[in-house]
Amino acid sequence: MPDLKISTDFEGGSVEALDCRDPGAIRLALKPDGRSPDLQWFHFRLHGAKGRDCRITFENSDRLARLAGRDEIPDCWTGYRPVASHDGAEWLRVGADYRDGIFSIVDRPLHDSVDYAYFAPYPLARHRALVDRARRSPRVAHDVLGLTPDGHPIDRLTFGRAGQGRRRLWIMARQHPSETMGGWFLEGLVDRLLDPADPVAAGLREAAVIHIVPTANPDGCARGHTRTNALGMNLNRAWADPAATDAPEVAAIRDAMEAEGVDFCLDVHGDEELPYNFLGGPLEIPSRNEGLRRRFVDFMRGLEAASPDYVRRHPYPGGAPEAADLRMAWNWIAERFGCLTVLLEMPFKDQIDVPDARYGWSPQRSARLGRAMLDPIAAALPGLR
Ligand SMILES: [Zn+2]
Repeated sequence: MPDLKISTDFEGGSVEALDCRDPGAIRLALKPDGRSPDLQWFHFRLHGAKGRDCRITFENSDRLARLAGRDEIPDCWTGYRPVASHDGAEWLRVGADYRDGIFSIVDRPLHDSVDYAYFAPYPLARHRALVDRARRSPRVAHDVLGLTPDGHPIDRLTFGRAGQGRRRLWIMARQHPSETMGGWFLEGLVDRLLDPADPVAAGLREAAVIHIVPTANPDGCARGHTRTNALGMNLNRAWADPAATDAPEVAAIRDAMEAEGVDFCLDVHGDEELPYNFLGGPLEIPSRNEGLRRRFVDFMRGLEAASPDYVRRHPYPGGAPEAADLRMAWNWIAERFGCLTVLLEMPFKDQIDVPDARYGWSPQRSARLGRAMLDPIAAALPGLR
């Protein structure tokens, strides 16, 4: 029998191998984000286990922090199954076991080398291919809002031209690098916007100018971080004062928003605990008002009509907070620009309303939701101001 080996020497690779002598008792640890204690994301390659029954245990899986007020919601490991791939293209859900706070992958690999990850990775090469595809279109302008501490560009795609009466829409994803479903979602959304034969996309390109930042935190993506950038900062806690909080990525995006203006913003995320898609609106900001609330309710109805993968009955987990956290993008942007902002959370688990035992919530489903999202955005356009 060959020796088992675990490697992580690739983009986004992350895990600490503690002991892999016995396939039935492989011991690993989730790795924290450099300077920050945040942990959750894993992506590693297991070699030499073809046809062997493997039990791969994350010894520190009981050390994850939970958001406040979520005690009645199952934690991130309950009902969760990891993904595996032998070709980097198709990611299937595999077996899992969760006991006394400790999570294990349970699998018998069909190949000599198999990748395991928390969710299907969205590689930076794929981000670059999306940017290149958009750049080839006469409908799109591409620019770079700034460089990250590790030297990655923060790419922006702009559909439509600014002008009198045109609404200014902003869509961004992956402030949190582990939430790779955001990359797949934006790929679906951008590809639909690029489609010359799609009437909803054509209407949006005509009536609005749409700024898209597909990868807000490329350093975190490349490093395999869970929540932070190269400086250890959670970007979605940096919007109130990015200059003072080691968040040059947020400073660059904020500066561009100040220069262009904002009439609508969609910020795309993933949630480790919720087994469904969830939308948040600017309902707790200091300047909240009835008009914003109505626009948000209409938006939720619009997405519900556009996709069975969004169902409105799921309430805000733990109840809405009394006051908005203005360090978070969607709250800060709504307060600063007095506009509708929407937070999208997609599941890492499965979507309980339309479950899929083979793939769970997946790249394909994320991309389709991204395509569907253009419908409520188009419907909201006339009433944004
Ligand atoms: Zn997030």
